[in-house]
Amino acid sequence: MNFELPPELTAMREALRKFVKAELEPLEDQIDRSGELPPGLLPLMGKHGYLSMRLPTEVGGAGMGLFPYALMLEEFSRSHRIFGLVASGGGGLTPIAIARHGSREQREKYLTGLINGTLRTAFALTEPAAGSDNSAMTTRAEKKDGGWVINGRKHYINSAHDADFITVIAITDAVKRTRGGVTAFLVDKGTPGFNVTRVDTTMGSAVIKLAEIEFDNCKVPDSARLGPEGQGFNLAKESLRDGRMGVSCSCIGMADRLLAMSAAHAKTRITFGKPLAERQAIQWMLADSEVDIAAARAMVYDTLRQIDEGKDVGTAPSICKLYCSEMVGRVADRAVQIHGGMGIVQGYPVERMYRDVRHYRIGEGSSEVQRMLIAKDVLKRV
Ligand SMILES: Cc1cc2nc3c(=O)[nH]c(=O)nc-3n(C[C@H](O)[C@H](O)[C@H](O)COP(=O)(O)OP(=O)(O)OC[C@H]3O[C@@H](n4cnc5c(N)ncnc54)[C@H](O)[C@@H]3O)c2cc1C
Repeated sequence: MNFELPPELTAMREALRKFVKAELEPLEDQIDRSGELPPGLLPLMGKHGYLSMRLPTEVGGAGMGLFPYALMLEEFSRSHRIFGLVASGGGGLTPIAIARHGSREQREKYLTGLINGTLRTAFALTEPAAGSDNSAMTTRAEKKDGGWVINGRKHYINSAHDADFITVIAITDAVKRTRGGVTAFLVDKGTPGFNVTRVDTTMGSAVIKLAEIEFDNCKVPDSARLGPEGQGFNLAKESLRDGRMGVSCSCIGMADRLLAMSAAHAKTRITFGKPLAERQAIQWMLADSEVDIAAARAMVYDTLRQIDEGKDVGTAPSICKLYCSEMVGRVADRAVQIHGGMGIVQGYPVERMYRDVRHYRIGEGSSEVQRMLIAKDVLKRV
């Protein structure tokens, strides 16, 4: 199914496809074998403007909307999940939060490095006892001597071990809590009392690492506060909305490549004297994946367009994230089945992608959390 995009987005997508083919796809194997990102990758993305598409022009960005940015994630994710993750800036869209809510000093300190790919960041919300229910968080920041003292522990923080600074969400008013008692802080690596205590690898590609971080009487100045005191939970929610749309597009990109690989394999693999592509059982799997992807694109592109027009899209980002993360799981499962043994052998993209897509039903709010939000809205309407 062909989704017509405005001419400028079509041209942008063509340029992105060329970049992915020439620069990213050749790195896939090396990244998987080493479990590390090539040091020049972020600066290369920065040079092409891919780390600053959404940032306002006043701070050196391209001032684009969410739609072009999400299309970029779709194209990057066609290659390897990690490319979309790094391009979204710490998984939590920290650069855009700094551009929108940061002080002049913070914008000057961090944005140039984030734009040119010399600084890495991470976004720390989840805690051992506060995952789906992040309102149960216990990490707190107390005012002291004109600054703040942070204590607590966060875990599953994507790329926190590599980050030059981290956005931390902490309780600053134990009575108000998530109703105006949560604040965001930017904490630099090397700040005394801030430590990476564990790095977890996951069932996905070895390059995707989640870290546990600890704040032990970690003192930061008031100038480390991101946005007004008490607004940290709103800032996190704003970031999650855009993050869910980004995840949705990443799922579409991965599903599209899995379907293309499945169709190509089905045309060349001969069993019982005929290509797999001539068997109805295989054709139905290809057809189901095509329908899945088309439905995903329809809901995601329409929601992105409405967001960029400034409309209130309600629970649409949850609907998109839920549908797309489950859709890509189905497409990946069919891709493995169509590839047979090749689909489960390590070193072949289908096997890696099958494992990587499993993350999507948990990160940025699990499927159950999205269903809770959607159902709450449905019940409110009657
Ligand atoms: C790849 C990846 C990257 C991540 N990166 C980050 C990051 O950069 N920063 C960050 O802060 N966090 C990050 N996370 C953490 C992620 O946000 C949490 O894992 C997620 O919110 C779920 O929390 P949990 O793991 O504690 O699961 P739990 O909250 O313990 O939930 C366990 C299971 O129970 C279900 N469940 C929970 N409550 C209910 C309920 N009321 N009804 C029905 N079912 C329920 C959940 O859906 C889940 O299936 C990342 C996670 C992944 C997988």
